[in-house]
Amino acid sequence: MQTPETPRDLGLPFDAWRPGQRDTVEAILTAFQEYKYVLLTAPTGSGKTLVASAVQRLLGVESVYTVHTKQLQEQCLKTMDWAKVVTGRSNHMCELDQLKAINATAENAPCAQGADCEYIAPAPDGCSYYRALYAAADSPQAVLNYAYATRIVRAKGIRKMTRNPFRRDLLVCDEGDLAEQAIIDAVTVTLNRQTAKTFDAPRYNASVQDFVTWAKDVRMRVVGWLQTRSGKALCDHASVHCKECDHSPSSTVLKDYRSAQSFMDTVNMLNNMPDTDDWVVIEDKYFIRIRPVWGWAVAQKTLFFAFKQALIMSATLGDPKILARKLALPDDEWVHIEVPSYFPKENRPVFYWPVEKVNRKTDSEGWDHLAAAISWLAEQDGLQRKKGIIHTGSFRITRELFVRLLEKEINADKPFIRYIMQTQEGGSARKETMIEILQTDRRPMIVLSPSLATGVDIPYEIGFQVIAKVPYADLSDPVVRARKDYHVAGVPFGRQSYDADALNTVIQACGRAVRAPDDKGVTFILDGNFHALYQRGYVPTHFREVFKWFKERG
Ligand code: SF4
Repeated sequence: MQTPETPRDLGLPFDAWRPGQRDTVEAILTAFQEYKYVLLTAPTGSGKTLVASAVQRLLGVESVYTVHTKQLQEQCLKTMDWAKVVTGRSNHMCELDQLKAINATAENAPCAQGADCEYIAPAPDGCSYYRALYAAADSPQAVLNYAYATRIVRAKGIRKMTRNPFRRDLLVCDEGDLAEQAIIDAVTVTLNRQTAKTFDAPRYNASVQDFVTWAKDVRMRVVGWLQTRSGKALCDHASVHCKECDHSPSSTVLKDYRSAQSFMDTVNMLNNMPDTDDWVVIEDKYFIRIRPVWGWAVAQKTLFFAFKQALIMSATLGDPKILARKLALPDDEWVHIEVPSYFPKENRPVFYWPVEKVNRKTDSEGWDHLAAAISWLAEQDGLQRKKGIIHTGSFRITRELFVRLLEKEINADKPFIRYIMQTQEGGSARKETMIEILQTDRRPMIVLSPSLATGVDIPYEIGFQVIAKVPYADLSDPVVRARKDYHVAGVPFGRQSYDADALNTVIQACGRAVRAPDDKGVTFILDGNFHALYQRGYVPTHFREVFKWFKERG
């Protein structure tokens, strides 16, 4: 199969390929002749989206392109305007007059329970959800987020269509390193603790099997409860809002009905759980969550079964062997392709300066030591008036370093003040605010954060970075502990995966400094734990070729 001279020859709106893009397309096409799955590590700037679109066109097939979040789907609307995006029902308002009044989404609309509606139609007559759904169904490239994809491909069919249009020849998993977690999130069963208590659900420390047994026993009681609530919510025509008999229940009745439906769905999911090996129960004050420990328990039957081939790609895919196992890809059905970086090496150096082995025992002296090193680096020629990100790995370390760096800045004898900021705990909004400041504020600054290793794409703004701590996953999380202790045939697979994830996060963080071919940024890794990880784990060439030991001062 010949890749044409330009993307435009394939109907894609670009006049030329970027360096290496054409070779990557051809390597993927060749790999697909032999393998079902192609894992692609393609660093920033390699133009993965265009590569995936070219592959889809050259194979002459339809594809589903999955991304991790709705925000990334929105980005796809800009970068892949030839594709069609559809998001889940909860992102679309129901357009029936009575439901508009209570801000109901398509998730809570009668059609979600099988009722007919005049707005179940493609554009121009359909409501927002169905317009998007039918447009994506008709498009050769449909863009879905993972959560929605796992639901829609398992549906038997789509309303008024004879087949499920999202079971296709090609699946493209963007941000493939996040695919396992996205699939696990999509199948996690969540019980409202209060409602579960009403139905005598197992108490603390119960096993998954206890919940499955309970769900079987309690099912008929829940059916009766749902019937009582539906009796109030639905009219004789089985409709929530009925024009024929002018039925329209109060918002409280509707809310009770929805919560009963949702609880019934959860009980049904527990009843239909095929096996409970490798699933765990996670409890907090408000919710009980039942989820697989590893993606391999569900990845094939939840997502991959619906496609003939899959391209799983990321700038930082991590160790391909570990990822393949997590996603239950058979050993002889996948191949890994690594694309070189075309950003000049001298623009993106990564220096290793093992100032301190950071761990739970790191004391005040250790934090002083680390803060002094960061402060010294920030004052070196060419960095004083730049913006820097300090990747801290946790909010606790953020606070330890923040107070010390602030004190040093206040007491420094120099002609200008550098702004020292930290991201606070409190979700993605705080992170977004910090990214906006980094993007728009012209002043020199240092931002300390555990959450900027991914999702920061600000060319020409970040002059330097420091990795203060290798960001291992938090062992106070019971799922992280369960995964880390996992052995497969005597091999400590859990430990290997735990290390590989931490290494991959460091490599992702280093990538924040340079986002364009002529962008420049330097990264310093100060945690002395890094080198052992680097030697043991999978490191892509685009990182290995710029990694150097730092010659210490004086
Ligand atoms: S099809 Fe009708 S009931 Fe369903 S979300 Fe659209 S407007 Fe609402």
